Amino acid sequence: MPSASPSANIRRKGIMLVLSSPSGAGKSTIARSILEHDEAFQLSVSVTTRPRRSSEIEGVHYHFKTMREFEMLRDSGELLEWAEVHGNYYGTPRKPVGEAVAQGRDMLFDIDWQGAAQLREKMPDDIVSVFILPPTMKELLARLTRRAEDTAEIIEKRLKNARHEIEQWRDYDYVIVNDDLNRAFESVRAIVAAERLRRERRTGLEDFVAGLLKEEIE
Ligand code: 5GP
Repeated sequence: MPSASPSANIRRKGIMLVLSSPSGAGKSTIARSILEHDEAFQLSVSVTTRPRRSSEIEGVHYHFKTMREFEMLRDSGELLEWAEVHGNYYGTPRKPVGEAVAQGRDMLFDIDWQGAAQLREKMPDDIVSVFILPPTMKELLARLTRRAEDTAEIIEKRLKNARHEIEQWRDYDYVIVNDDLNRAFESVRAIVAAERLRRERRTGLEDFVAGLLKEEIE
């Protein structure tokens, strides 16, 4: 029987991939594509006090909570980060993240800049953050309106908040302008591929290289 490849013991830690953007810049579509194409990734399903949209499924897109339920989770330390966004509360459940890190699995976070800042502080070695920009503000408004699931008032609020969100771009490791969805998706894939090869994220390389250097070639 052929023996296992000497590289079989090289492992890597999971990537905690944070995607942020103003509403309507295409982040959720990109996130969905990553989850479809890359089995190693699991979505961090947030809790929120925002009302469920008709297209959303409880436990898949969000865990929908009342304000009281949200406060209980937050106050008992069950949220790794939380923030108020567009007048609703959102938070990342702590437990699934801990499990993913321990098992070397990758996790995808669709969260805003406030959440990204908290995760960066709590897990500086694990977070890879990507900011997605719209090509123009006009296009952003068109995308928000096209979604047609929100009222005119909500759309206006989100557009106003978009400027402030965009101003946070400097805090991110990578910045992508989404003028073509497919290209933006491929860019995120390239980032993930490179980040997976990072030396600091991998174990077993010391032994592998020691083996290489000891190998008899004559
Ligand atoms: P939406 O209501 O459109 O689903 O999300 C509104 C904003 O809240 C988006 O920018 C989204 O990334 C962000 N968001 C969703 N879940 C979380 C979370 O758990 N924490 C934080 N900080 N932001 C979140």
